[in-house]
Amino acid sequence: MEKHDVLVIGGGPAAITIAKNMQAKRDIGIIRPEDHSMIYCAMPYVIENLLPYEKTLKKDEIVTETGAALIRDTAVEVDFDNKVVKTLNGDKYTYNELVIAVGASPILPPINGIELENVSTFKSEKDLKKILDIVDSGLESAAVVGAGAIGIELAQAFNERGIETNLIDMMPTVLPNMLDSEMSKEAEAELKDLGINLYLDNKVVELKGEDKVEEVILGSGEAVKADLVIFSVGMKANLDFLTDTDLKLGRDGILVDDQLQTNIEDVYALGDCVQFESGITGDVISGKLATNAVPMGRILANNLLGDNRSYKGFYNGTATKVGDYYVGGSGLTEKKAAEDYDIVSGYAEFTTAFPIMPFSKKVKMKVIVNRENREVLGGQVVSGEPVTDKIDKITMAVQYGIKVDDLLGFSYSSQPYQSFYPAHNLLVKSAEEIVKKLEG
Ligand SMILES: Cc1cc2nc3c(=O)[nH]c(=O)nc-3n(C[C@H](O)[C@H](O)[C@H](O)COP(=O)(O)OP(=O)(O)OC[C@H]3O[C@@H](n4cnc5c(N)ncnc54)[C@H](O)[C@@H]3O)c2cc1C
Repeated sequence: MEKHDVLVIGGGPAAITIAKNMQAKRDIGIIRPEDHSMIYCAMPYVIENLLPYEKTLKKDEIVTETGAALIRDTAVEVDFDNKVVKTLNGDKYTYNELVIAVGASPILPPINGIELENVSTFKSEKDLKKILDIVDSGLESAAVVGAGAIGIELAQAFNERGIETNLIDMMPTVLPNMLDSEMSKEAEAELKDLGINLYLDNKVVELKGEDKVEEVILGSGEAVKADLVIFSVGMKANLDFLTDTDLKLGRDGILVDDQLQTNIEDVYALGDCVQFESGITGDVISGKLATNAVPMGRILANNLLGDNRSYKGFYNGTATKVGDYYVGGSGLTEKKAAEDYDIVSGYAEFTTAFPIMPFSKKVKMKVIVNRENREVLGGQVVSGEPVTDKIDKITMAVQYGIKVDDLLGFSYSSQPYQSFYPAHNLLVKSAEEIVKKLEG
């Protein structure tokens, strides 16, 4: 039986971050089923033909050069009492401390026709290869179900390849977890301008076809032609091999404390396979993002080396690109925040460079504040230029309890190519509007 001081199950960003941050200061073994770890975020751009498929595959050296042992296998059983992990190949591994980082898989809804050929999810190397083959063989029409960031990126990729593309969501607006409805208008208009057919406020009730899928039937009764249907409607933690154990599981994943420790001694879990709370409300929320898995990995790796750090919760800063626009959001949307707080929102609209510069583009921001304690709860940005730096500033305000009054005096930078005039700033302007409303 092979023994590792720290045994990690999983090969995604969570597991890789553990290996990178521990740098073999302890003996680490990583059990990973796939041929390659992948850059999932880049998969839509392979379909679009912007990137060759190989660019999304991470090299094994990313793990092995840290000194960790990479074990190509799948964990099928864990005996927590005897500290033994059994694998699909019939091997057994023992450990002093176990880290579970098995991620999550996309959900397929239980509707008629879901078993038809050319109905797929979009996460693994296998999914990507299958979809690429279908697209390359001359696909005419596709439907993407779920207008979140992944669905929107994938729909644009199909459209770019000349495929008649339909994007379907049961919510009335696109990117419903990222943007409030009035901030989603540009994204929606852009998708329509690109020629993507939008079916919002509409549920998929059935798929029809002989062997292969041919039509998506909507709750409205409409039949949408689609030779390929991709569901991007949510993820479920990969916990089947752990359900008959003493490990405590919640509806969204393994239960862990703020040091990512499970209910079983010497067993930790992180990334997409755990259930965790919002850093704002303390409620359990979904946070299945690499930008949550990696910081969790950093904290856990340092704790496994003797530190005492804790994870504060999900803030869920996210962004995507829709046509010529970049959009993003962080913290709570106004709609979500209004469920728990008395809120006030403020807006600002400027340009990405000095307006006199020939290439300046529009940029707008929305900031949402808790009326009671005046702290920032969230915000959104729509821009002609990338938004992640602006989204990260909003996250910083939310995460560190910055009050709207503090933003009034926020010290910013300005330069003709890169910002609006020194005369103003998006965060300051949004804060001014909020303070006026609070005091008016
Ligand atoms: C198309 C797409 C685009 C995305 N874009 C973004 C983005 O722009 N920004 C962002 O922050 N996030 C994005 N995400 C989400 C991000 O990829 C995930 O949050 C992240 O991969 C989670 O990391 P993880 O290590 O927890 O889990 P995963 O990456 O899912 O890795 C889990 C690993 O565990 C392995 N495993 C599962 N079961 C077992 C077992 N029994 N034994 C051994 N190993 C097992 C899996 O095979 C896999 O290697 C995107 C996801 C997709 C699919």
